[in-house]
Amino acid sequence: MSLGSPLIRYWYHPSPQMVGESVEAFLREMAGPTLIHIPGRDRSRARAICTLLHGNEPSGTRALFRFLQEGIEPAVDLLCFFGSVQTALQEPLFFYRHLPQERDLNRCFREPFDDPQGRLAKAILDILQELNPEALIDIHNTSGMGPCFAVSMKQDPAHDALTSLFTERMLVTGLKLGALFEYSERNVPTVTIECGGAQDPRADQIAYEGILRYATREDVLTPVDADWDLEILREPVRLELREDASITYSEAEDVYADITLPPDVEHHNFGRINPDVALGWVKPESWDKLIVHTPAGVDVKDKVLKLEGNRLYPAQALKLFMITTNATIAKSDCLFYAVTDNGSHLA
Ligand SMILES: [Zn+2]
Repeated sequence: MSLGSPLIRYWYHPSPQMVGESVEAFLREMAGPTLIHIPGRDRSRARAICTLLHGNEPSGTRALFRFLQEGIEPAVDLLCFFGSVQTALQEPLFFYRHLPQERDLNRCFREPFDDPQGRLAKAILDILQELNPEALIDIHNTSGMGPCFAVSMKQDPAHDALTSLFTERMLVTGLKLGALFEYSERNVPTVTIECGGAQDPRADQIAYEGILRYATREDVLTPVDADWDLEILREPVRLELREDASITYSEAEDVYADITLPPDVEHHNFGRINPDVALGWVKPESWDKLIVHTPAGVDVKDKVLKLEGNRLYPAQALKLFMITTNATIAKSDCLFYAVTDNGSHLA
Protein backbone atom coordinates (compact mmCIF):
# COMPACT_ATOMS: atom_id res chain seq x y z
CA MET A 1 0.00 0.00 0.00
CA SER A 2 1.22 3.47 -0.78
CA LEU A 3 0.56 6.16 1.79
CA GLY A 4 2.14 8.98 -0.10
CA SER A 5 4.14 10.28 2.83
CA PRO A 6 7.86 9.90 3.37
CA LEU A 7 7.37 11.60 6.76
CA ILE A 8 5.58 8.71 8.43
CA ARG A 9 6.83 5.15 8.62
CA TYR A 10 4.15 2.62 7.72
CA TRP A 11 4.43 -0.55 9.80
CA TYR A 12 1.94 -3.26 8.97
CA HIS A 13 0.86 -5.69 11.68
CA PRO A 14 3.94 -6.06 13.90
CA SER A 15 3.96 -9.28 15.89
CA PRO A 16 4.29 -9.18 19.71
CA GLN A 17 7.98 -10.10 19.31
CA MET A 18 8.63 -7.27 16.88
CA VAL A 19 7.46 -4.44 19.17
CA GLY A 20 10.32 -5.05 21.63
CA GLU A 21 10.72 -5.82 25.30
CA SER A 22 9.91 -2.38 26.67
CA VAL A 23 8.18 0.85 25.70
CA GLU A 24 11.60 2.41 25.20
CA ALA A 25 12.66 -0.39 22.83
CA PHE A 26 9.34 0.05 21.02
CA LEU A 27 10.02 3.78 20.56
CA ARG A 28 13.56 3.07 19.35
CA GLU A 29 12.19 0.57 16.85
CA MET A 30 9.76 3.18 15.49
CA ALA A 31 12.51 5.86 15.57
CA GLY A 32 10.21 8.54 14.12
CA PRO A 33 6.56 9.26 13.29
CA THR A 34 4.91 5.91 12.60
CA LEU A 35 1.58 4.46 11.52
CA ILE A 36 1.00 0.93 12.79
CA HIS A 37 -1.78 -0.82 10.90
CA ILE A 38 -3.38 -3.76 12.72
CA PRO A 39 -5.78 -5.76 10.55
CA GLY A 40 -9.17 -6.51 12.11
CA ARG A 41 -11.79 -9.23 11.69
CA ASP A 42 -13.77 -6.90 9.43
CA ARG A 43 -11.28 -5.60 6.87
CA SER A 44 -13.84 -3.33 5.26
CA ARG A 45 -13.80 -0.82 8.13
CA ALA A 46 -11.08 1.04 10.07
CA ARG A 47 -10.77 3.10 13.22
CA ALA A 48 -7.88 5.41 14.00
CA ILE A 49 -5.97 6.19 17.18
CA CYS A 50 -3.41 8.94 17.42
CA THR A 51 -1.09 9.41 20.35
CA LEU A 52 2.21 10.96 21.37
CA LEU A 53 1.45 14.23 19.61
CA HIS A 54 3.03 15.54 22.79
CA GLY A 55 6.34 13.82 23.55
CA ASN A 56 5.85 13.94 27.32
CA GLU A 57 2.48 12.16 27.33
CA PRO A 58 3.17 8.43 27.43
CA SER A 59 -0.14 6.77 28.37
CA GLY A 60 -1.38 6.16 24.81
CA THR A 61 1.97 4.71 23.71
CA ARG A 62 2.22 2.47 26.77
CA ALA A 63 -1.36 1.27 26.23
CA LEU A 64 -0.82 0.49 22.54
CA PHE A 65 2.49 -1.22 23.31
CA ARG A 66 0.63 -3.48 25.75
CA PHE A 67 -2.15 -4.04 23.21
CA LEU A 68 0.39 -5.07 20.54
CA GLN A 69 2.30 -7.29 22.97
CA GLU A 70 -0.93 -9.13 23.74
CA GLY A 71 -1.52 -9.73 20.03
CA ILE A 72 -5.21 -8.82 20.26
CA GLU A 73 -7.19 -8.90 17.02
CA PRO A 74 -9.37 -5.80 16.70
CA ALA A 75 -12.96 -5.88 15.41
CA VAL A 76 -12.03 -3.67 12.44
CA ASP A 77 -8.68 -2.44 11.11
CA LEU A 78 -6.88 -0.25 13.62
CA LEU A 79 -4.68 2.62 12.41
CA CYS A 80 -2.34 3.74 15.20
CA PHE A 81 -0.40 6.97 14.69
CA PHE A 82 2.56 7.83 16.91
CA GLY A 83 3.52 11.48 16.41
CA SER A 84 6.44 12.90 18.37
CA VAL A 85 8.52 9.73 18.67
CA GLN A 86 11.85 11.53 18.33
CA THR A 87 10.77 14.10 20.91
CA ALA A 88 9.81 11.34 23.35
CA LEU A 89 13.17 9.63 22.78
CA GLN A 90 15.18 12.73 23.75
CA GLU A 91 16.72 12.03 27.14
CA PRO A 92 15.21 11.86 29.65
CA LEU A 93 12.53 9.71 28.01
CA PHE A 94 9.06 11.29 27.69
CA PHE A 95 10.32 14.64 28.95
CA TYR A 96 9.70 17.18 26.18
CA ARG A 97 6.21 18.16 25.03
CA HIS A 98 7.86 19.44 21.86
CA LEU A 99 11.48 20.29 21.18
CA PRO A 100 12.40 23.87 22.03
CA GLN A 101 12.87 24.88 18.38
CA GLU A 102 9.63 23.23 17.22
CA ARG A 103 5.96 24.17 17.33
CA ASP A 104 3.48 22.22 19.47
CA LEU A 105 2.37 19.47 17.05
CA ASN A 106 -1.19 19.54 18.37
CA ARG A 107 -1.52 23.15 17.26
CA CYS A 108 -0.42 22.36 13.70
CA PHE A 109 -3.51 20.63 12.25
CA ARG A 110 -4.53 23.68 10.26
CA GLU A 111 -2.83 25.90 7.75
CA PRO A 112 -0.13 27.01 7.37
CA PHE A 113 1.60 23.64 7.06
CA ASP A 114 4.91 25.17 6.01
CA ASP A 115 7.33 24.01 8.70
CA PRO A 116 8.42 20.46 9.70
CA GLN A 117 5.69 20.13 12.37
CA GLY A 118 3.06 21.49 10.00
CA ARG A 119 4.13 19.07 7.27
CA LEU A 120 3.91 16.13 9.70
CA ALA A 121 0.42 17.23 10.79
CA LYS A 122 -0.63 17.56 7.15
CA ALA A 123 0.77 14.08 6.40
CA ILE A 124 -1.34 12.62 9.23
CA LEU A 125 -4.43 14.42 7.91
CA ASP A 126 -3.76 13.19 4.36
CA ILE A 127 -3.43 9.57 5.47
CA LEU A 128 -6.63 9.85 7.52
CA GLN A 129 -8.41 11.23 4.49
CA GLU A 130 -7.07 8.39 2.32
CA LEU A 131 -7.84 5.53 4.72
CA ASN A 132 -11.13 7.05 5.88
CA PRO A 133 -11.55 5.60 9.39
CA GLU A 134 -15.06 5.62 10.89
CA ALA A 135 -13.76 7.30 14.07
CA LEU A 136 -10.62 8.90 15.49
CA ILE A 137 -9.35 9.01 19.07
CA ASP A 138 -6.39 11.19 20.10
CA ILE A 139 -4.86 10.12 23.41
CA HIS A 140 -3.08 12.60 25.69
CA ASN A 141 -2.07 13.13 29.30
CA THR A 142 -2.70 16.29 31.29
CA SER A 143 0.34 18.25 32.42
CA GLY A 144 -0.63 18.06 36.08
CA MET A 145 -2.61 15.56 38.10
CA GLY A 146 -6.33 15.26 37.50
CA PRO A 147 -9.12 13.03 36.33
CA CYS A 148 -9.71 11.73 32.81
CA PHE A 149 -11.90 13.69 30.41
CA ALA A 150 -12.65 13.98 26.73
CA VAL A 151 -12.56 17.04 24.49
CA SER A 152 -14.88 17.27 21.52
CA MET A 153 -16.07 19.84 19.02
CA LYS A 154 -19.53 18.35 18.88
CA GLN A 155 -21.96 16.73 21.22
CA ASP A 156 -24.04 14.05 19.51
CA PRO A 157 -24.58 10.30 20.08
CA ALA A 158 -21.39 9.31 18.21
CA HIS A 159 -19.13 11.67 20.19
CA ASP A 160 -20.90 10.69 23.43
CA ALA A 161 -20.31 7.02 22.60
CA LEU A 162 -16.59 7.52 21.89
CA THR A 163 -16.17 9.50 25.10
CA SER A 164 -17.96 6.84 27.14
CA LEU A 165 -15.37 4.25 26.13
CA PHE A 166 -12.89 6.14 28.31
CA THR A 167 -14.58 8.57 30.70
CA GLU A 168 -17.82 10.15 31.86
CA ARG A 169 -16.66 13.75 31.44
CA MET A 170 -16.68 15.67 28.17
CA LEU A 171 -15.68 19.23 27.28
CA VAL A 172 -17.41 20.59 24.22
CA THR A 173 -15.61 23.48 22.63
CA GLY A 174 -15.71 25.38 19.37
CA LEU A 175 -12.29 26.86 20.09
CA LYS A 176 -10.09 26.24 17.08
CA LEU A 177 -6.41 26.00 17.85
CA GLY A 178 -5.29 23.59 15.16
CA ALA A 179 -5.74 20.52 17.40
CA LEU A 180 -6.39 17.10 15.87
CA PHE A 181 -9.89 16.72 17.38
CA GLU A 182 -11.01 19.45 14.98
CA TYR A 183 -11.00 16.58 12.46
CA SER A 184 -14.66 16.22 13.57
CA GLU A 185 -15.34 18.96 11.03
CA ARG A 186 -14.74 16.38 8.30
CA ASN A 187 -17.66 14.35 9.63
CA VAL A 188 -15.49 11.70 11.24
CA PRO A 189 -16.42 11.50 14.93
CA THR A 190 -13.25 12.50 16.80
CA VAL A 191 -12.48 13.01 20.45
CA THR A 192 -9.36 13.82 22.40
CA ILE A 193 -8.94 11.76 25.54
CA GLU A 194 -6.98 13.36 28.35
CA CYS A 195 -6.24 10.26 30.44
CA GLY A 196 -4.91 12.10 33.50
CA GLY A 197 -1.40 12.90 34.68
CA ALA A 198 1.58 11.59 32.73
CA GLN A 199 3.09 10.12 35.91
CA ASP A 200 -0.14 8.54 37.11
CA PRO A 201 -0.36 4.74 36.56
CA ARG A 202 -4.17 5.05 36.54
CA ALA A 203 -3.88 7.12 33.36
CA ASP A 204 -2.08 4.22 31.63
CA GLN A 205 -4.81 1.84 32.77
CA ILE A 206 -7.60 4.16 31.56
CA ALA A 207 -5.90 4.47 28.17
CA TYR A 208 -5.47 0.70 27.86
CA GLU A 209 -9.01 -0.21 28.89
CA GLY A 210 -10.51 2.45 26.64
CA ILE A 211 -8.41 1.35 23.66
CA LEU A 212 -9.42 -2.25 24.30
CA ARG A 213 -13.12 -1.28 24.12
CA TYR A 214 -12.52 0.96 21.09
CA ALA A 215 -10.62 -1.74 19.25
CA THR A 216 -12.70 -4.80 20.04
CA ARG A 217 -16.34 -3.66 20.00
CA GLU A 218 -18.34 -4.12 16.84
CA ASP A 219 -19.90 -0.70 17.24
CA VAL A 220 -18.29 2.27 19.00
CA LEU A 221 -20.53 5.02 17.68
CA THR A 222 -23.81 4.14 19.40
CA PRO A 223 -24.02 4.92 23.12
CA VAL A 224 -24.42 1.71 25.11
CA ASP A 225 -23.28 2.58 28.61
CA ALA A 226 -26.50 4.29 29.57
CA ASP A 227 -25.44 3.97 33.20
CA TRP A 228 -22.62 6.42 32.48
CA ASP A 229 -24.26 9.78 32.71
CA LEU A 230 -21.93 12.07 30.85
CA GLU A 231 -21.00 15.29 32.57
CA ILE A 232 -20.89 17.85 29.76
CA LEU A 233 -18.87 21.03 30.13
CA ARG A 234 -19.78 23.44 27.38
CA GLU A 235 -17.77 26.21 25.77
CA PRO A 236 -14.91 26.56 28.18
CA VAL A 237 -12.86 29.73 28.07
CA ARG A 238 -9.11 29.86 28.59
CA LEU A 239 -7.13 32.04 30.95
CA GLU A 240 -4.16 33.09 28.87
CA LEU A 241 -1.23 35.22 29.92
CA ARG A 242 0.20 38.10 27.98
CA GLU A 243 3.66 37.42 26.60
CA ASP A 244 5.38 39.69 29.12
CA ALA A 245 3.61 38.19 32.16
CA SER A 246 5.59 36.38 34.83
CA ILE A 247 4.06 33.60 36.89
CA THR A 248 5.31 31.82 40.01
CA TYR A 249 3.93 28.95 42.05
CA SER A 250 4.39 29.61 45.75
CA GLU A 251 2.54 29.43 49.08
CA ALA A 252 2.99 33.18 49.50
CA GLU A 253 2.83 36.06 47.08
CA ASP A 254 6.02 36.58 45.11
CA VAL A 255 6.32 40.36 44.82
CA TYR A 256 8.46 40.03 41.70
CA ALA A 257 5.87 37.99 39.80
CA ASP A 258 2.77 39.34 38.09
CA ILE A 259 0.83 36.26 39.14
CA THR A 260 1.43 33.88 42.03
CA LEU A 261 -0.54 30.69 42.42
CA PRO A 262 -0.26 28.14 45.22
CA PRO A 263 1.59 24.96 44.18
CA ASP A 264 -1.52 22.86 44.92
CA VAL A 265 -3.81 24.99 42.71
CA GLU A 266 -4.49 21.98 40.47
CA HIS A 267 -6.52 20.42 43.29
CA HIS A 268 -9.30 22.68 42.01
CA ASN A 269 -9.46 20.61 38.80
CA PHE A 270 -13.14 19.91 38.02
CA GLY A 271 -14.38 20.87 41.48
CA ARG A 272 -16.86 23.70 42.02
CA ILE A 273 -15.14 26.89 43.14
CA ASN A 274 -17.17 29.59 44.81
CA PRO A 275 -16.38 33.30 44.50
CA ASP A 276 -15.08 33.39 48.10
CA VAL A 277 -12.21 30.99 47.35
CA ALA A 278 -8.97 32.85 46.66
CA LEU A 279 -7.11 31.38 43.70
CA GLY A 280 -3.87 33.29 44.13
CA TRP A 281 -2.35 36.73 43.81
CA VAL A 282 -2.12 39.21 40.98
CA LYS A 283 -0.42 42.58 41.17
CA PRO A 284 -3.17 45.12 40.41
CA GLU A 285 -0.96 46.81 37.78
CA SER A 286 -0.57 43.39 36.09
CA TRP A 287 -4.31 42.73 35.74
CA ASP A 288 -4.14 43.53 32.01
CA LYS A 289 -1.71 40.67 31.51
CA LEU A 290 -4.51 38.16 32.17
CA ILE A 291 -6.67 37.46 29.12
CA VAL A 292 -9.98 35.57 29.03
CA HIS A 293 -11.69 35.56 25.65
CA THR A 294 -14.51 33.44 24.24
CA PRO A 295 -13.80 31.51 21.02
CA ALA A 296 -15.44 34.44 19.21
CA GLY A 297 -12.93 36.82 20.80
CA VAL A 298 -15.24 38.48 23.33
CA ASP A 299 -13.50 39.61 26.50
CA VAL A 300 -15.24 37.87 29.43
CA LYS A 301 -12.53 38.26 32.04
CA ASP A 302 -14.81 40.18 34.40
CA LYS A 303 -17.31 37.31 34.34
CA VAL A 304 -14.64 34.77 35.22
CA LEU A 305 -12.22 36.52 37.55
CA LYS A 306 -12.15 39.42 39.98
CA LEU A 307 -9.35 41.10 41.80
CA GLU A 308 -9.80 42.34 45.38
CA GLY A 309 -6.64 44.17 46.38
CA ASN A 310 -4.07 41.74 45.06
CA ARG A 311 -6.13 38.60 45.70
CA LEU A 312 -7.58 36.73 42.75
CA TYR A 313 -11.08 35.22 43.06
CA PRO A 314 -13.62 33.63 40.72
CA ALA A 315 -16.18 36.24 39.67
CA GLN A 316 -18.92 33.59 39.98
CA ALA A 317 -19.11 29.88 40.82
CA LEU A 318 -16.88 28.14 38.29
CA LYS A 319 -15.46 24.82 37.31
CA LEU A 320 -11.81 25.01 36.33
CA PHE A 321 -9.85 22.32 34.57
CA MET A 322 -6.53 21.61 32.92
CA ILE A 323 -5.02 23.88 35.52
CA THR A 324 -1.30 23.75 34.96
CA THR A 325 1.48 24.17 37.49
CA ASN A 326 4.01 24.31 34.68
CA ALA A 327 4.90 27.98 34.15
CA THR A 328 6.07 27.34 30.58
CA ILE A 329 2.74 25.79 29.56
CA ALA A 330 0.84 28.48 31.47
CA LYS A 331 2.58 31.11 29.36
CA SER A 332 2.77 29.37 25.99
CA ASP A 333 -0.69 27.74 26.10
CA CYS A 334 -3.01 28.63 28.95
CA LEU A 335 -3.23 28.58 32.72
CA PHE A 336 -6.59 26.87 32.92
CA TYR A 337 -9.97 26.39 31.24
CA ALA A 338 -13.17 27.53 32.94
CA VAL A 339 -16.91 27.07 32.61
CA THR A 340 -19.68 28.46 34.79
CA ASP A 341 -20.81 26.00 37.42
CA ASN A 342 -24.46 26.26 36.33
CA GLY A 343 -23.69 25.74 32.65
CA SER A 344 -24.70 29.30 31.70
CA HIS A 345 -22.88 30.91 28.81
CA LEU A 346 -20.02 33.26 29.42
CA ALA A 347 -20.43 35.01 26.09
ZN1 LIG B 1 -1.27 16.60 25.01
